[in-house]
Amino acid sequence: MNLILMGLPGAGKGTQAEKIKSKYNIPHISTGDMFRSAIQEGTELGKKAKQYMDQGQLVPDEVTVGIVKERLGKEDCKKGFLLDGFPRTLDQAKSLDAILDDLGVSLDHVLHVDVPEEKLMERLTGRRICPTCKTAYHVLFNPPKQEGICDKDGSALIQRDDDKPETVKNRLSVNLEQTKPLLDFYEEKGYLVKVNGDQDIDKVFQDIEKVLEN
Ligand SMILES: [Zn+2]
Repeated sequence: MNLILMGLPGAGKGTQAEKIKSKYNIPHISTGDMFRSAIQEGTELGKKAKQYMDQGQLVPDEVTVGIVKERLGKEDCKKGFLLDGFPRTLDQAKSLDAILDDLGVSLDHVLHVDVPEEKLMERLTGRRICPTCKTAYHVLFNPPKQEGICDKDGSALIQRDDDKPETVKNRLSVNLEQTKPLLDFYEEKGYLVKVNGDQDIDKVFQDIEKVLEN
């Protein structure tokens, strides 16, 4: 079961990744985790990645791709893997093809957790934070008892700049632009499966199970 999981911020990808991982017992491989363990293990590529990250620079593709290759070659990936956050670009997708060829395995599915943009806006702009106790609320999913007021200490809730509509809209469109060519690439290859992410978490997972068990 060799999978890639895709979805825009707020689509619930992380939650579904956890569910897939625990039900099918395959490693969930996110780019961040991969970097962290390569650095921790002190591999050559890990050291290189660290140099870039320490300088606040993007890790170049050849290093990232090398780290992915090392990770996918490990024993625990023999029964499958769930890639999350990689590939991010078309070039990386092509590199992944080459890695999988080298390893003698192929992809099974690219799962795209799809949520309409206006729903993502709703999810991503609804967060409110208490400036005093830092408790997080959500205007739709976890509202305070009294609108705009912290349940615990009565402070007026604030919206972080990151959660403001313009910022979120911008983040989504950057992501969308980046993701589109990847989705097209995998669709053409016949790997892409669209999963409706605009429903209950458990329902989304049931749809994923149907795909994986078919
Ligand atoms: Zn509070």
